[in-house]
Amino acid sequence: MEEAREAVAAALGAKPSEVIFTSGGTEADNLAVKGLLWARRHGDPARRRIIASPLEHHAVLDPLAWLADSGQADVEWLAVDRAGRVSPAGLEAALAADPGSVALVTVMWANNEIGTVQPVAELAAVAARYGVPLHTDAVQAFGQLEVNFHASAVDALTVSAHKIGGPLGVGALVLGRGVDATPLLHGGGQERDVRSGTLDTPAIVGFAAAATEMVADRAARTARTAALRDELVAGVRAAVPDAVLNGDPDPSGRLPGIAHFSFPGCEGDSLLLLLDARGIECSTGSACSAGIAQPSHVLLALGVDPVTARASLRFSLGHSSTRDDVDHLVDQIAAVVDRARIADPVAP
Ligand code: PLP
Repeated sequence: MEEAREAVAAALGAKPSEVIFTSGGTEADNLAVKGLLWARRHGDPARRRIIASPLEHHAVLDPLAWLADSGQADVEWLAVDRAGRVSPAGLEAALAADPGSVALVTVMWANNEIGTVQPVAELAAVAARYGVPLHTDAVQAFGQLEVNFHASAVDALTVSAHKIGGPLGVGALVLGRGVDATPLLHGGGQERDVRSGTLDTPAIVGFAAAATEMVADRAARTARTAALRDELVAGVRAAVPDAVLNGDPDPSGRLPGIAHFSFPGCEGDSLLLLLDARGIECSTGSACSAGIAQPSHVLLALGVDPVTARASLRFSLGHSSTRDDVDHLVDQIAAVVDRARIADPVAP
């Protein structure tokens, strides 16, 4: 167990004592958001504001909604631009208004739908100037970008094993030694008394093995994935000239493994089914919430209208993706979009 803790810490640029193992990303996000709020409010009841990005995964958004609905916190949303970027100046303005009332800031490292990467270290530096802890959900970033806890100087950071090829049901909250978090689970006092319960050693050892392997070949693997993604983007744009690429226009500001488009005049679900019939699997929104016929909260936060938001698809690339996969999509996409436009004559 302790060797596994050292390996996970090394993969994240953290100290072993900063790694709190959890049942996954969802638990780590809940522990960060609720635990930091409760600890800060315990010290000073006036600290009830949480400043968050509106692009967060539901594992952060839903705890925030619950805290707000139950009267425990006031949640404020940071502005994002059309590319999905949170600005350090925007955070500065939100904090400067009344820093003494802020419990924490939470901004994800990289978005799971559009792939936009946030300036996490700059945001953490702003929060630190006001003495406010910053949590970041790095579940998507960990396997695709260098994620270094100390270099980023964040106070709390979430990761999940299954996003990096490890087992399901295990993850971690990396929590700075000086950062107080009130536990969600009380009991035997494991994990610095922050997360009680006998640990799942086989899962944690699997997590550590996955993290070590992933870090060893991350640079080479993600360079290859990014090159395939750029071919996919260029090919789709050539085939469907009015397709809109979402996320940061600069490819280095997006995750290598995600390409996200809106296809005006189409229903995303129709595109999904037509592509599936041709052996191409993609997603209409976050994979975690697919099946719910709602426009993505991420696209709405960027200012995309609901009709266009529903006309959107996420293509994900991983270590098993090939040039043939990309070529096949590029060959099929124009015909599929034409069919979807005839099937669903929605206003563009
Ligand atoms: N945060 C992000 C950004 C995610 O993409 C996910 C899962 O897809 C989670 C949190 C939840 O992690 P887990 O499935 O380990 O609970």
